[in-house]
Amino acid sequence: MERTSITEQAERILHDVASTLMTPTAGECLVCFVARQLDEFGCNGTHRFASHYRDCVAPRATALLARLSAMGACCCDCEMFMNTYEPAPRLWTQACEAVDSDGYGEWADAKPPDTMPPCDTTRRGSTKPCANWVRVSRSRDR
Ligand SMILES: [Zn+2]
Ligand SMILES: [Zn+2]
Repeated sequence: MERTSITEQAERILHDVASTLMTPTAGECLVCFVARQLDEFGCNGTHRFASHYRDCVAPRATALLARLSAMGACCCDCEMFMNTYEPAPRLWTQACEAVDSDGYGEWADAKPPDTMPPCDTTRRGSTKPCANWVRVSRSRDR
């Protein structure tokens, strides 16, 4: 029946999409990849996306997880975005003084972007983030 074959096709397409999502795109950096996967699948308390990236792209980076841990992402992927990397300042909305209807000035803080732009790409085999990310600075004054 034609109906069956369409269902089968749809399932095959879905399967292809699922496997594409789990593979870093050409030149995609570690941090963009992990951010994308966390968005899609969430954190399960491990470094599953970081280690998957390493297996796909940088199998020789055996110290990657140890290095991420040392930089603050000690337990899992989402900690990378709390303790280790944040969007580059140029991507944030600027802090500004907004005047409300009563004429009071209100200070609006700079905000990180809701969605990240496409990866700025990195060298294959590297586990360095692209230019969209900077290391979180613990001494930053706000
Ligand atoms: Zn987590
Ligand atoms: Zn990137």
